[in-house]
Amino acid sequence: MMVIEADRLTKRYGDFEALHSLSFKIEKRSITAIVGPNGAGKSTLLKIIAGLINRTSGHLTVLGEDPWKSQDLPKELSVILDRPYLPLYLTVEDVIREVISEFNTSYSDVINILDILNLSIFLKNKVKELSTGTRQKLQIAFSLLKNPEIIVADEPTATLDVASRFEVYNTLLRLREKQGVTVLISSHIASELLTISTHLLAINNGIIRYNNEISKLIRKD
Ligand code: ADP
Ligand code: ADP
Repeated sequence: MMVIEADRLTKRYGDFEALHSLSFKIEKRSITAIVGPNGAGKSTLLKIIAGLINRTSGHLTVLGEDPWKSQDLPKELSVILDRPYLPLYLTVEDVIREVISEFNTSYSDVINILDILNLSIFLKNKVKELSTGTRQKLQIAFSLLKNPEIIVADEPTATLDVASRFEVYNTLLRLREKQGVTVLISSHIASELLTISTHLLAINNGIIRYNNEISKLIRKD
């Protein structure tokens, strides 16, 4: 089953064409690594999929709907951006209280995910006392609590050290295993992402250079 279908997606910023006629499909329960150098068009593509910006032309459906037109899509979609946006003067516990009421989740679910990401020790801290990496992990934990069907993550691990990056990867793998979540995750460093991904979508200069299952990248004969 396909959860995202893009047909000849093009994006222009003024005269500059950032994406040139991209066509691809994303399977349910896949983890797709979106890789390419800085400026390739990864953020632009993910923002279009998340409904944050509109394409210039082309056709796109996310869970059967046009993300730009749809009002209620964000419920099924969790977007993780490369910088955290948490309220600085609240404690982590206060933020959790807000998250519980907003996402209709339980305290034990929250603690579970904080434990996996080694964040439980920060409950009494104010957000402003935490390092950028820890804030980003918190942001990721909260995004995952929405029970999304699709996670769109734009360079979510850019500010994290290697141990934290793999804590995040492992969390994504568990969500796929337990809830069948579909993940799109971008990075300008491909190697690590390939260890957790099922599919690779490589772009450069707004063009798809590779789009297939990772298992088909390596010939074992
Ligand atoms: P990536 O995420 O792969 O680094 P982006 O999607 O951010 O790439 O950018 C792709 C290209 O589009 C780059 O050349 C960038 O400078 C340009 N770009 C991105 N956003 C804008 C914008 N809002 N206005 C003009 N150009 C933009
Ligand atoms: P990323 O690396 O995740 O693509 P950037 O730090 O490059 O993000 O961009 C941050 C913001 O600036 C984004 O909203 C992007 O759309 C915008 N932006 C990026 N490149 C340009 C550009 N050449 N002109 C105008 N805005 C841009």
